[in-house]
Amino acid sequence: MLIDIINEMGALPTRNHRDVAFPSARDISPNMAEPRKTDGKPHLVTNQACFGCTIACRRISKIDETHFSVQNKPQYWGASGGLEYEAAWALGAAHGVKDLEALQYANLICNEQGMDPISFGATVGAAMELFEMGVLSKEQIGIEAPFGSAKALCELAELTARGEGFGKEIGQGSKRLCSKYGHPELSMSVKGQEFPAYDSRGIQGMGLAYATSNRGACHLRGYTVASEVLGIPVKTDPLSAEGKPELVMAFQDATASFDSAGICIFTSFAWSLSDIQPQIAAACGDEFTMDNLNQIGERIWNMERDFNNRAGFAAKDDSLPPRLLKEAAKQGPAKGLVSKLPEMLPKYYEIRGWDADGQLKKETRTRLGL
Ligand code: SF4
Repeated sequence: MLIDIINEMGALPTRNHRDVAFPSARDISPNMAEPRKTDGKPHLVTNQACFGCTIACRRISKIDETHFSVQNKPQYWGASGGLEYEAAWALGAAHGVKDLEALQYANLICNEQGMDPISFGATVGAAMELFEMGVLSKEQIGIEAPFGSAKALCELAELTARGEGFGKEIGQGSKRLCSKYGHPELSMSVKGQEFPAYDSRGIQGMGLAYATSNRGACHLRGYTVASEVLGIPVKTDPLSAEGKPELVMAFQDATASFDSAGICIFTSFAWSLSDIQPQIAAACGDEFTMDNLNQIGERIWNMERDFNNRAGFAAKDDSLPPRLLKEAAKQGPAKGLVSKLPEMLPKYYEIRGWDADGQLKKETRTRLGL
């Protein structure tokens, strides 16, 4: 369901974030229970779960055997890895491919070979933009690679998995790829990690979450989409910067506690920290009060930050690509907006207890016992 919602909001990054809405979003929305156009059979075979999980978020699907990607590859004719939201975006809208079978095949290769579909798909998006600009040629890539080419997507997935030809360059990620070819500004990443499927011009809190995430652009360290889009635990305005520093900090700290409890983050759509606090206390001791859990999350976040600072990261790295800060969104409710990161960042540093360079102040260390 998220593809449609985020697309309507003007927050579905499309063609390397040139656009914020994908006209073919319906084609890549992985509603796999719907009948396929070619043979009328559904893509979806079954759901699958990690041990003991009742959510069962994994999808097992089947690629059409006549599709070019699996012709002469009977090993892929049975049920194989399905798509979820991030992969459907990264292997589709991120570079404009709308062929659901091709998306499934590329996802299958990513899963089989241990490649992150987000970083892979986003890097293909950057390569396709460089191809469209004439910076990269067919000879260099090994195939015509304009935005929307399903053939190029599948070919590049195979080459990257095998570390052959241009796949070696894709495997280095978009930051190195774009720098090598003279356009570092086209890498849609923070601290070298590619963005997931939410454009920070249409969901402003996510821009701040990406810029300040300790491991680079990431949706799993402060998913304000829950509040800004889904209203969990309260609805906030996705287009406004107001209150976002506080929201991002609260999400980041709570997520750090959640992750440390060993619980899948997807349970947080239903459970808040106050739901798991009694469970942690029962297992680990009465000292795990709500106050303590909140401070544990904040301490984790600050320890990671301190580690990064000592490794040379500072305020200069808490940024977004120029495209998101200077090029206004062209579609949807976010039309005309850029990311309001410069407005949010100073307040975020202030409430974190960091100085203007993003370093922990002495009193913050003392307060957190670091
Ligand atoms: S919700 Fe989490 S624990 Fe459950 S199947 Fe999905 S990834 Fe596994």
